[in-house]
Amino acid sequence: MHFPLTFFLRNVAAVRKEFQAGKVPARVQRRTLMRLLRQRISCYSQVKSWLKGAGIRPDRIFGHPEVGHSSSPYCNHCGGCCEIPGGMPDFPGESPLPAKGREWFGEGLGPGHRFCPFLWESGETGRSFCSIHPWRPNPCRIFDHEECAVVKGDPDFTVSCRPEQLLETCRWLVRLLDGR
Ligand code: SF4
Repeated sequence: MHFPLTFFLRNVAAVRKEFQAGKVPARVQRRTLMRLLRQRISCYSQVKSWLKGAGIRPDRIFGHPEVGHSSSPYCNHCGGCCEIPGGMPDFPGESPLPAKGREWFGEGLGPGHRFCPFLWESGETGRSFCSIHPWRPNPCRIFDHEECAVVKGDPDFTVSCRPEQLLETCRWLVRLLDGR
């Protein structure tokens, strides 16, 4: 299972702050979060089908020697660099990614989404990985150590990653969806 649940919860926490600031009614909050969840699940399923059709196992992507994770001394798979709704859809020439995938990266999944459509989570470790890492766009390839340090140095980012924060967001979400 590689659905990015942790990152969805981090997304929910960020949207929740906007709800609070804008005094958004609970029914609108529910509708918005259900839309975000549906879109994220649909994207996840489509990328999964595409990988399966191409004969690519996600766990092989995570551990593939060409991926470069293991040769990156500073990457701890926090997902911070992928907390972007999308970016410049500048893909390497030979990318086998379907046109729809390029479109997702260029335009994002829609309002409210804070994480890249291709960000997945390792079910075993809970850490992030890029579901299209060997074919990822060029802007992702030039993200370097210094930019990583800036992301990790943001106090809001640190708070958003805390397990107690994720748990609290999860409880709030359940209460909201339950109408309590
Ligand atoms: S394409 Fe991959 S590396 Fe780039 S932002 Fe998305 S998940 Fe992260």
